[in-house]
Amino acid sequence: MTKAAFEAKPPVNAYGWAARDSSGVLSPFHFTRRANSDDDITVKILYCGICHGDIHLVKNKIWPTLYPTVPGHEIVGQVIRTGKNVTKFRVGDIAGVGCIVGSCGSCDNCKQDLENYCPKMLWTFQGQHEDGTRAFGGYSDNMVVEERYAVLIPNGFALAGTAPLLCAGITAP
Ligand SMILES: [Zn+2]
Ligand SMILES: [Zn+2]
Repeated sequence: MTKAAFEAKPPVNAYGWAARDSSGVLSPFHFTRRANSDDDITVKILYCGICHGDIHLVKNKIWPTLYPTVPGHEIVGQVIRTGKNVTKFRVGDIAGVGCIVGSCGSCDNCKQDLENYCPKMLWTFQGQHEDGTRAFGGYSDNMVVEERYAVLIPNGFALAGTAPLLCAGITAP
């Protein structure tokens, strides 16, 4: 979304748990997410797994962590808003979000659904969207995400057990 489009719509208020430094302590955090654009869904988060990657993030063990940081990239929630271009979700559906929430969308890797190799790949919990808003993870009450980076969770899934499948659980025995 362009900066102008962002400014035309109010951002989404969110509440979560953030690390302010590498101590490992999380504390309550009020922040804003970008407005729901035409390609986005807004998800009311129901479950979010704890991955060892979150612990690395909080303790500044992988990247230089951008504090404050809201961890969480094994996210399951209910869709509460859809942009007008959204085709994969309807309000009320259950969506899952993993560790990627952005990429350029036009490079060879993105065109082959290999966004994880895109040079502009954006982690769910670290970095900035194109409009300048920070990416904050799933230890929070909601998330605004482009539908491209969310998966539809089929009816009948046990949702607490589904959350880890968005990252580590998929490779665990
Ligand atoms: Zn993970
Ligand atoms: Zn790309």
